[in-house]
Amino acid sequence: MGVPGSFLDPRVFYHKVAVGDPLLSAMLENPNHIGCHTIDKKSESFFSGTHEIECDAIKICAEKIFGGQPNSQDGYIAGGGTESTIEALWVYRNYFVKTYQARPSEIGVLFSEDSSISIIKGCDLLDIRPFIVKVHSQNRKIDKEYLRQLIRSAKDRGILYFIVVLNMGTEIFGSVDDPDLVCAQLEEQNVPFKIHVDAGIGGFIFPFTQPTHKLSFKNPKITSINTDAYKILRAPFGTSVFMIRKGYMDFALTKEARYVAGKDHTLIGSRSGANAIAVWMLLKTLGSKGMNYKMQRIFIRTRQLCEALDKKHIDYFHEPGMNIVAIKNKYMTRQIESLYGLVPDDTENPQWWRVIVMDHVDNALLDAFIEH
Ligand SMILES: *Cc1c(COP(=O)(O)O)cnc(C)c1O
Repeated sequence: MGVPGSFLDPRVFYHKVAVGDPLLSAMLENPNHIGCHTIDKKSESFFSGTHEIECDAIKICAEKIFGGQPNSQDGYIAGGGTESTIEALWVYRNYFVKTYQARPSEIGVLFSEDSSISIIKGCDLLDIRPFIVKVHSQNRKIDKEYLRQLIRSAKDRGILYFIVVLNMGTEIFGSVDDPDLVCAQLEEQNVPFKIHVDAGIGGFIFPFTQPTHKLSFKNPKITSINTDAYKILRAPFGTSVFMIRKGYMDFALTKEARYVAGKDHTLIGSRSGANAIAVWMLLKTLGSKGMNYKMQRIFIRTRQLCEALDKKHIDYFHEPGMNIVAIKNKYMTRQIESLYGLVPDDTENPQWWRVIVMDHVDNALLDAFIEH
């Protein structure tokens, strides 16, 4: 009687369709997953069973996919990649404020020009300054000299602390940033920094196709990672997996949220538990073998596309291990772009067009595209 939540209105929603379907049943039951359940089990007792399922999904992602030590990461299923990135920036801004007595104006956020626009949104909301690093136009790698100069000029402008967002797959190119290159520059210039990895688009494929990559929790310099389950994994929208080493979530704790059992460490507030259940079902049903098989097959099809483009001497960018191929504009026509639903890097002045190989992008479709 004390909660303003209920199951979905059966006068409007047809409950019988859900019989025997765990996801649809969960949607109709409508559990609220407010808060971060990996921290303590004191959260809202009404939905404790499905909270456990969310904790298990976080554990699988953080430990099995991203190499974290057992029981050493917290996390939650956020509303999207944008929320995950802003949550990370929020945690680190408060970390520098509380640990170093920093002022927000002394905190800079460093990321490449191919990064998600969510970082700019986060900087605006949190009142911290963005510093955008140029990449080389052909190989999309961070320009080392530009980075060195950018850190130097940021320091000259009063920036003493850096939050770094590295990509495991940028949205248009699928390019993956090199943590060693960025850390070396920051360490050389002797500035404290924290690293978040935006694996929004690459997090469920790259660790399977490039298992020795350097952007996991095995890298002690990386504190947090997000990956979106609604992309290659095919979960519903609203399923970004946010993961962070234990000890950091408290920097985003809203102590004043006294009416929420277990308090709230998240940006979103109330959220659907059905989303967490969907992610967990996918992970448990595919299993590590199924995930590996699916991602290798997608990667093989991506390589076949690249080989076919090579044969036709068509320029493109492809990061090994990723399922994204960005093709140079000069080889494209408006007809091909619209027929195959390709996406440009810049809608007003396209230089590249993105193909992203998913389950539904099969050999027949790829062959037709190449032929065209
Ligand atoms: C998809 C994506 C995002 C944004 O995710 P939303 O869920 O749309 O907020 C952020 N970063 C990367 C790299 C992405 O691929």
